[in-house]
Amino acid sequence: MFDLDLFVIGGGSGGVRAARVASEKGFKVGLAEEYRLGGTCVIRGCVPKKLMVFAADYEDYIKDAAGFGWTVGHSSFDFAGFQATKDNEIDRLEGIYRTLLDQAKVHFFPSRAIIEDPHTIRLDNGKTYKTRIILIASGGSPFVPKFEGSHLVGNSNDVFKLKELPKRVLICGGGYIACEFAGVFNGMGSKVTQAYRGSQILRGFDNDIRNHLSNTMSIRGIDIRLNQTINKITESSNGLRAYFGDHSQEFDFILYATGRKPNTKDLNLDKIHVETDSSGAVVVDKYSQTVIPSVFAIGDATNRLNLTPVAIREAMSFVATVFEGEPTPVDHINVPTAVFTRPEIGTVGLTEEHARAKFDVEIYKTTFKPMSNLIAGREENNLMKLIVDKSSRRVLGVHLACPGAAEMIQMLGIAVKMGATKEDFDRTCAVHPTAAEELVTLHNPM
Ligand code: NDP
Repeated sequence: MFDLDLFVIGGGSGGVRAARVASEKGFKVGLAEEYRLGGTCVIRGCVPKKLMVFAADYEDYIKDAAGFGWTVGHSSFDFAGFQATKDNEIDRLEGIYRTLLDQAKVHFFPSRAIIEDPHTIRLDNGKTYKTRIILIASGGSPFVPKFEGSHLVGNSNDVFKLKELPKRVLICGGGYIACEFAGVFNGMGSKVTQAYRGSQILRGFDNDIRNHLSNTMSIRGIDIRLNQTINKITESSNGLRAYFGDHSQEFDFILYATGRKPNTKDLNLDKIHVETDSSGAVVVDKYSQTVIPSVFAIGDATNRLNLTPVAIREAMSFVATVFEGEPTPVDHINVPTAVFTRPEIGTVGLTEEHARAKFDVEIYKTTFKPMSNLIAGREENNLMKLIVDKSSRRVLGVHLACPGAAEMIQMLGIAVKMGATKEDFDRTCAVHPTAAEELVTLHNPM
């Protein structure tokens, strides 16, 4: 006899969605969360980060205003005040998550949970619950490599708790988080250095986009140092000193954005023989099921595609499979995504490099200065790129670097998901005057 139909470990986007939907369908559901409801996305990821991006963007508006005839007086940024406003908003959202669980009649346990056996969960207070199904939705945490002085650096969680805007910031890494925070600190007024071990930031993205972003970030004053590793960090009289190969430099805050690791270490997965890979990710099949039939896993704990909307879709597929009798594999193909750098990056489908490896392709590309930048005197171009399969004419990939790229790529994602051809794009009438109209008026392949 089970106490519950489903026990969810982790109250992030994926876990809450699965718990809520299963409970609304009449199943008895429990959910344990040891920290705050909302998980990485709401509490220390997408949402507070996006608020920081909004705050940083005002730097552009203020700078560009003069070109449009405005006289702007002295402006300054109240970092501590902004952090407090942001924290209030996160508290509000956390409350909404709690309300949603309550309304759905999910039994909420503010506790750590570990798996005793394939049908038993144990909480911190020693209480155990028998459950038909276990869903691991425990998310991930920032990873910082160990080296001399690594205890002195901060990770992305720490950024949200900073009380003062650091004047000199070093960001180590070249991925989503490193590039996004480089833009945020730069916009807020810090002097930013970004050190990346590879030859160009945003590995895995389309090469034109990577080069374009790197150039634009440099124009904005971010000191991007490629092929750079940091050997050690020490405390200095005025902050922290980072030692690069041939020199050292002082900073006020050093952020390591060097990837994330699944939160699976202390769940007892070994004991119940649930397989994990070398990163600690729970190994699951296309239905998010582990080798133990009663144990499933979704979201960053599985390290498939670590994006909030993907975790939510995995949750919905899980509920359909397990509680609605409709086996629904998770679809990870052509997921649109955005990097909230300044300018934004929006991307869906294959990069040129990946497409060329599989298809005979045509590349349509344009680089242009948008109207607003011309008047504002801003030395920044937009880049838009379509990758087309020559034989089927299907658009295999769209890559954008421009203001509004995240909003645009959401819509373009529908077209690419539907298998739109280049001729479908051409048939679509332009919306004028917009930057996005370039996407339907690209006539000559490169
Ligand atoms: P990423 O995996 O994107 O990037 C990690 C970066 O750290 C890479 O540049 C990597 O280099 C570098 N790195 C890794 N290990 C080391 C090391 N030992 N020493 C030096 N550099 C190292 O991770 P993030 O932390 O930026 O983001 C994690 C995930 O969160 C992303 O993959 C994304 O899925 C998600 N995310 C999504 C966002 C969005 O949708 N806008 C925003 C933020 C995060 P290399 O390239 O050489 O491996």
